[in-house]
Amino acid sequence: MEVIIVGGGIGGLTTALFLHQKGIACRIFESTSQFRPLGVGINMLPHAMRELDSLGLTPGLAARGIEAREFGFYNRHGQHIYSEPCGRHAGYDFPHFSIHRADLHAVLHEAVVARLGADALTMGRRCVRVDQDERGVSVYLEDSVSGEPLPAERATIAIACDGYHSAVRAQFYPDEKPAFGGINLWRGVTRGKPFLSGASVTRAGAIDTGKMVIYPIRNFPDGTQLINWAAEIRQDSWTMNDWHTPGRKEDFERWYADWHFDWIDVPDLFNRAEFILQYPMVDRDPVDRWAFGRVCLLGDAAHPMYPRGGNGAAQSIIDARTMARLLVEHADPVAALQAFEAERLPPTAKIVRTNRVQPPDAIINVVEERTGGKRFERIEDVISDAELQAISQGYASIAGYDLAATNRRAA
Ligand SMILES: Cc1cc2nc3c(=O)[nH]c(=O)nc-3n(C[C@H](O)[C@H](O)[C@H](O)COP(=O)(O)OP(=O)(O)OC[C@H]3O[C@@H](n4cnc5c(N)ncnc54)[C@H](O)[C@@H]3O)c2cc1C
Repeated sequence: MEVIIVGGGIGGLTTALFLHQKGIACRIFESTSQFRPLGVGINMLPHAMRELDSLGLTPGLAARGIEAREFGFYNRHGQHIYSEPCGRHAGYDFPHFSIHRADLHAVLHEAVVARLGADALTMGRRCVRVDQDERGVSVYLEDSVSGEPLPAERATIAIACDGYHSAVRAQFYPDEKPAFGGINLWRGVTRGKPFLSGASVTRAGAIDTGKMVIYPIRNFPDGTQLINWAAEIRQDSWTMNDWHTPGRKEDFERWYADWHFDWIDVPDLFNRAEFILQYPMVDRDPVDRWAFGRVCLLGDAAHPMYPRGGNGAAQSIIDARTMARLLVEHADPVAALQAFEAERLPPTAKIVRTNRVQPPDAIINVVEERTGGKRFERIEDVISDAELQAISQGYASIAGYDLAATNRRAA
C-alpha cells in the first residue's frame, strides 16, 4: 500500500510520521514552494503531546517551546479570577508546550526528512483534484508557481490534509462557504520580560468588550521571551483571509487603551509587536462524511474549528495517529478510511460546536455576566472555586484532554 498525503502542514507531516512508524509508505505533496516561519503561537496540550511523544518528538519541542505551568483567567480590569496548573504541573503524564507554530512545524519537518528522506516531501505542488478507480487514486497536481498541470500521481489511497481551504474538500462540498463566528482576531508576537510565572497561559476580558489571550512561546538567552498575544473583538464585518494577512493596530487597540495591569501592559505589547496578523474567527459546519472511497479528509480539511485552546493542531495530530492505527488494523484501506470517519468525526464535530458556544474562557464570561463587567471586591462573592473548576473541567473533557482519560489512554 502507498498513501499520498495532500498538504504538508501540521496534520500532513504528523500523518506521514505515524504511517512511517507503522511501516506504511507515503509521499507528501505541499503547495507552498518553501516553508516560511508563518503564524504565531499554538498550545500543545497533553492530549496532543501524548501523540507527539510517541513519535519521540518531546525533546525537540522542549528545546524550542516553553513548558506551560498554569492557566490564568482575568477580567478586563486585570483582576485575577482563577488559576489552575496545567500539563505535568497538573498531574498529566505529558507536558503542555506553548510554542510558535513555525517551531512546531520545523520539528515535524525535520523528523520527516530524517526518517522518511527528503524525497518523501515534494514542495510547490498544488493538488487540484482527486480521482479514483477500483485499484487506486489519481492525484492531479499543478506547479504552484507556474500553474502548469503535472502528470497525475497514483497511490492506493489519498489523505487530504490541505487545511481550511482544502481543494479536496471543495471537490466533495462544492457549495460550502466559511462559517463566520462574528469575531475578528488580531495576533502578534512581542519580545519582553517574562510575566507572572514566566510560563502562564492567560486569558483576560470578555468577548463583548474585548478579550485577550497572552502566553510566552520562546525563551531567549538574555532572559527575555517571545510573547504571543491574540485580541478578539465581536464585529459583524469580516474579510476572509489567510493565516499571514497583516493587521493594523489602529483597528483594535482602542478596546484595550487602559489595559495597563500590574502583571502585563497590553498597549505596550501592541506598540512593540514584531508584526500583527488579522484573521476572522471562522470554522465550517460539521459534515456527515469525510471518507469517499479511497479518499479521506483529515485535520482542518475535515473539521476546521475556531483557533481556540490549540485544538486545531491537537485534533489533526490525534487524527494522524488514529489513521495510521486503523490502516494497520484493516486489511481493506477503504474500510480503514470509513473506520477513521466513524471514530473521529463525532468527537471533533462536538469540539467544533463547543468552541462556538462555550470557549475555553467561558469562566470569564460567567464572571462578566455576574458583575456586569465591573470590578469585584472578592472573587469568592461572585463565583465559588468549585464552580470555576467545574467549568474548566467541562471544557477539558469535551476537548479531549481531561486528566484521567489522557493519562489512561497513554497507558
Ligand atoms: C501558514 C499557516 C499558519 C498558521 N498559523 C496558525 C497560528 O498561528 N495559530 C493557529 O492556531 N493555527 C494556525 N494555523 C492553522 C493550524 O496550523 C491548523 O489549524 C492545524 O494545525 C491543523 O493542521 P492541518 O494540517 O489540518 O492544516 P494546516 O496546518 O493549515 O496545513 C495545511 C497545509 O496544506 C497545504 N495546502 C493547502 N492547499 C493545498 C493544496 N491544494 N495542495 C497541496 N497542499 C495544500 C498548506 O500550504 C499547508 O501547508 C496556520 C496554518 C498555516 C497553513
